Amino acid sequence: MSRPEHQIGNSQLISAVNSRLVLQAIRALQPTYRAEVARHTRLTPATVTGIVNGLLDHDLLTATPEYGATTPRGGRPPQILNVNAGARYVLAVDLEPDVLRVALTDLLVNIIEFREQAVDRFAEPDGTCRTLLRLCTEVLGEASTTKLLGAGLSLPGVVDTTEGILLSSTNMPRWHNVPIRALLEQRLSLPVKVGRSTHLAALHEEWIRPLEPDRIVLLISLRTGIGMCLMTHGEVYVGGLGFDGEIGHTVVEIDGSPCECGNRGCLETFVSASAVCERAEAMMRLRRGRALLACLDQGEILRPELVYRLAKRGDADCAEIVRDVGRYIGIAAANMINLFAPHEVVLCGSIDTADEIILDVVKRQVEAHSLPKSRERLTIRLAEAKEKAPLLGAAVLVAQEIFELPKLTYAASHA
Ligand SMILES: [Zn+2]
Repeated sequence: MSRPEHQIGNSQLISAVNSRLVLQAIRALQPTYRAEVARHTRLTPATVTGIVNGLLDHDLLTATPEYGATTPRGGRPPQILNVNAGARYVLAVDLEPDVLRVALTDLLVNIIEFREQAVDRFAEPDGTCRTLLRLCTEVLGEASTTKLLGAGLSLPGVVDTTEGILLSSTNMPRWHNVPIRALLEQRLSLPVKVGRSTHLAALHEEWIRPLEPDRIVLLISLRTGIGMCLMTHGEVYVGGLGFDGEIGHTVVEIDGSPCECGNRGCLETFVSASAVCERAEAMMRLRRGRALLACLDQGEILRPELVYRLAKRGDADCAEIVRDVGRYIGIAAANMINLFAPHEVVLCGSIDTADEIILDVVKRQVEAHSLPKSRERLTIRLAEAKEKAPLLGAAVLVAQEIFELPKLTYAASHA
């Protein structure tokens, strides 16, 4: 009896895989046609037509006749296929130590509603979770719950992604073993998927380039802390025990200043949000940074984004801080380039507000400190979604279930 069941299982699996292949191809190629999808997927035209009809029945595609198209024998003109982005919604949540971002997106991860709120990373988890739930309720608004696929949650620190627990975060010292997925699932009545912020930022970079799967991408995220993710040939590298890519805690100065992780001289002691703010405060104590002081007098909060924004506007004092940050990031990137020889280095996070300055410094450091061979084919750029990359990656974590075989799965990764 086991053999027929096994065969049925296989045919269902093949059918599910082929459906995802077709939908993934349409997302990558759209607007497109059945024949083009067949060529791209190497499935037969009849198989593609059968799958497309099924996807149309499920409202996941739109098919419209090409305007003015005719066929020589009066047959049906070819139809233009597109993914029906409004067929489903996803709730995306990004818990960064200093700021919460929440969005409602469509199936193609376009933002429909967005909220952002600064929070105190030293606060108890309860208050932050209450704020998070309020923002979720606001973005969900009147969205149809039947169309909601689920929620994706981006977390910093050490995460048990299988159980959805934030185990610890050096930047959020009061967060220990917080079962945040269970909390969200219970309060929102939605399935919730959890990922680490750097993994999700890399996942989003992969999602927006579906026709370029064979790349090695090194993503460096500069937010409250600094993290790294390696993406090789379409898959996110996932380390053991809930963490990896902790480039921020690599030591760059023996006997340097104490780091929040307990070590000394970590990269984060030079480039983290706290380090940038401390540097700015020290500058103001020396009666420099007048533009910064003026902004603070007008009620702005001292955050790296403010320093970066003023640097971009031409303030020399803030530009000096940004160039120093860029130097350290550049050295760290050069070391990683020597190790992994990626095709691309992608920078994301708050640095985006100082884009040209920081990119220029990073590129010069990489040029000076990486091996010529390892950077022969290298591009260094900012993430497409800038500081929203982990948020949109959280949406991709949910949406990818429909489109493709997962590029990021945590199953059994912590065994
Ligand atoms: Zn450290």
